[in-house]
Amino acid sequence: VKWSDGVAHDALRTPSTAHFEAMKQTARPRRFPSMHRTWRNPPRCGSAKATTRLQEGIARFYDASSALWEDMWGEHMHHGYYPDGKVDQIDHKQAQVDMVERVLRWADVKSVQKMVDVGCGIGGSSRHVVRKYPGSTATGISLSPKQVERAKQITEEAQLEASFQVADALQQPFEDGSFDLVWSLESGEHMPDKKQFVQELARVCAPGGTIIVVTWCHRVLQEGEALTVEEESLLKRICDAYYLPAWCSIQDYKDLMQEQGLESIKVDDWSEFVAPFWGAVIQTALQPRGIIGLFNSGWETLRGALVMPLMAQGFRMGLIKFNLIMARKPL
Ligand code: SAH
Repeated sequence: VKWSDGVAHDALRTPSTAHFEAMKQTARPRRFPSMHRTWRNPPRCGSAKATTRLQEGIARFYDASSALWEDMWGEHMHHGYYPDGKVDQIDHKQAQVDMVERVLRWADVKSVQKMVDVGCGIGGSSRHVVRKYPGSTATGISLSPKQVERAKQITEEAQLEASFQVADALQQPFEDGSFDLVWSLESGEHMPDKKQFVQELARVCAPGGTIIVVTWCHRVLQEGEALTVEEESLLKRICDAYYLPAWCSIQDYKDLMQEQGLESIKVDDWSEFVAPFWGAVIQTALQPRGIIGLFNSGWETLRGALVMPLMAQGFRMGLIKFNLIMARKPL
């Protein structure tokens, strides 16, 4: 779950002059330039600075909000999986564990030796994987020092083989081909450069290894189609509050993976299976403990909570998609 003040996001999406030129030539004057195009042509000028600002924001945001999330929801910081999209008698924490399980099954992961957990939160996925596959080890990276500290603590107490460090997914401190499972669960939406992100995932993956990305996307656009003004404006409000740069569609991810020469690419859309999630998060936030926690965690966390209904709305509109993509690196 992402909350933020959006400063970095705005900086990232400041259109370049070329972008304005493209806008003038567009045949559809009522449409803003879509983020779809923005992420593919990120502004060159000042983008390194904007990325740094975004990443500092992400770190600050998770430093401030992770303890509250853990208190209310536990070690997994991602959507739950609800079969048939129903909430009846569902334990939300179990739904989150089910999500990890279902993704592993979907990707047909039969064995794991070394996993990298890219954007690891407090390490929920890493621990799940090392427990499930005996003899495996995991390495998690996050931008948030507090998350890394907490991930280490829980893992040590549980005596599991997983290590964690503060590192950037776009410049991972690992040798080429280090991991047979490259895992990113709900961190891709934070990446300002999707191409570099996919490049890094492919680079650290061992030949024959599996890459799995589960991420928020916008709906797939037809050739030449852009998001509508209403859609752009809803996404902007979410991004401003959650430290998210421009989004892309799952088709864009597929293209990027193909460009990297990855094979057996498979995509899916589980939006219907996560539908009850945001309602549940809002309900938790409205409990007395949630409200007190929100105020104690500071303005950024609170502001993020206020935007939660927009996530639910985006899913209902068919604008926001809960997508999965997997690929194998050729031997
Ligand atoms: N995968 C975890 C956490 C999801 S929250 C889980 O499912 O529980 C998003 C995570 O992505 C946070 O830990 C955040 O620090 C991390 N993140 C975002 N941008 C990142 C980047 N550029 N490099 C590394 N981690 C990043």
